[in-house]
Amino acid sequence: MINLFGLSKADIQKIANENNWPSYRAAQIFEWVYKGIDTIDEMSNLPGLIREELKNKYYIYQMQIIKKLRENKTDTVKYLLKTEDNLQIEAVLMNYKHGISVCISTQAGCGMACAFCASAKDGMIRNLTAGEMLSQIYAIQKDTNTRVDNIVMMGSGEPLANFENTMAFLNLVSDEDTLNISKRSITLSTCGLSDKIYALADSGAGINLSVSLHNPIQSQREKIMPVAKKYSIDELIKACSYYTCKTKRRVTFEYALIEGQNDTSYHAEQLVRKLKTLNCLVNLIPVNEVEGKEIKKSSENNIKNFYDILTKNNINTTIRRTLGSSINAACGQLRAGIYKEG
Ligand code: SF4
Repeated sequence: MINLFGLSKADIQKIANENNWPSYRAAQIFEWVYKGIDTIDEMSNLPGLIREELKNKYYIYQMQIIKKLRENKTDTVKYLLKTEDNLQIEAVLMNYKHGISVCISTQAGCGMACAFCASAKDGMIRNLTAGEMLSQIYAIQKDTNTRVDNIVMMGSGEPLANFENTMAFLNLVSDEDTLNISKRSITLSTCGLSDKIYALADSGAGINLSVSLHNPIQSQREKIMPVAKKYSIDELIKACSYYTCKTKRRVTFEYALIEGQNDTSYHAEQLVRKLKTLNCLVNLIPVNEVEGKEIKKSSENNIKNFYDILTKNNINTTIRRTLGSSINAACGQLRAGIYKEG
């Protein structure tokens, strides 16, 4: 049995062809599935026979919300959703002045093992399908009865390590017969898989790219982000430069400031050297402390000093201060115990 939720237009057309149904039936099925119905029986403009034939091989499943957790100070809600095989997936709703953003997960767990990350605790479990990524947004829209304006792929998982499903999701979510979300309103966050950054640029997806950088010094970056052993910082910057040229979009670098580890003047100066020719924005994040990890938040002085060095050298820089924003900017920190149930 195959879940219809997550199939593309081409997939559904193929089903229609195999069954000798006219093309408009494929269009009707696609529309019904992405209206968010729960059962094939709800496809009321399909003849009963087609519905029965569909039910022999297909069904509809969207992830179910099992828990909602509200952040104390900000208008931010974390959702725990259940996959068909009973895995718990996190998605976060953030209310901003400019609209509603949802941060989605792209994998159950994550195999990238970044030192500051809560999602990496249990390692990689499995890739999420395009339907499971989309399902997170549908569930939140249904729950809040609102339309999502922006999507950030910064929950658990490394989206570029799940490239095929990520691309299928991007095509699906931007389809005018599903959620019709502009690709310019979608941001993908990566820990720095350079080869896939080239592939994303060449795909023509045209989405925003955000890169978790966190340290400009190769040997030190390797210690907090093992992925850096495979993709050096210089290769990564080169890939980002390609991305900006190809897409004409600025790349954002996330930089979680950790006391004594990456927040000195020397680190700031090295960062300037790496980024000075690139069309980019550096997003400084006073990091959340993660239980069981030796991670301390930078002092106010260090944060200000770091910011000043970057801006004096004409690097566009912002500082994220609220918890809601830090969730947005710090993938994998969603389980860091900052929520209360509500
Ligand atoms: S920070 Fe992101 S890429 Fe790194 S382990 Fe966590 S979820 Fe994976």
